[in-house]
Amino acid sequence: MTDPKTLCACGSGANYADCCEPFHLGREKAATAEALMRSRYCAYVRGQIDYLVGTTLPAVRTTDLWVNYKSTADSIQWIGLEVMSASQGGAEDKTGKVEFKASYIQDGERAMHHEWSRFRRSAGNWYYVDGVMAES
Ligand SMILES: [Zn+2]
Repeated sequence: MTDPKTLCACGSGANYADCCEPFHLGREKAATAEALMRSRYCAYVRGQIDYLVGTTLPAVRTTDLWVNYKSTADSIQWIGLEVMSASQGGAEDKTGKVEFKASYIQDGERAMHHEWSRFRRSAGNWYYVDGVMAES
C-alpha cells in the first residue's frame, strides 16, 4: 500500500522506503542512470547534500560543490520531477544520458529546470557527470 505521506519524492509512485531510501542509506546501488538521477532529485528535495556530492563523479567534484548544492537546496522548493527520456545508462553501459524536467518554486515564482544529464558508471557505481540545459 502506498500513502501520500510516504510516497517517494522522485515521483515513481512507490514508497520512499522501497524506492530511493535504500540508495540514500547506501544499502543499495542505483542500477541505472535513471534510478540514480531520480535518487539525486529526491536527495535534493530532502536536503541530503552528502548524497548529492557522493554521487557526483569524483573527477568533476569541485571544492565548493557541497556549499553550492546546499545553497541551491535551501533556496529552491522542488515540486515535481518528470523523466522525459533516457539513453543507455543501463546496468551494462558505461555512460548514460537522462532528460528530465524538474518543477520548482524560487522566490515565490514557479519555474522549470529542463536538463540533459550525463552519467558515467565507474567500479559498479553510477555517477552524475554534468548537465546541459535543454530548451523548454
Ligand atoms: Zn524515489
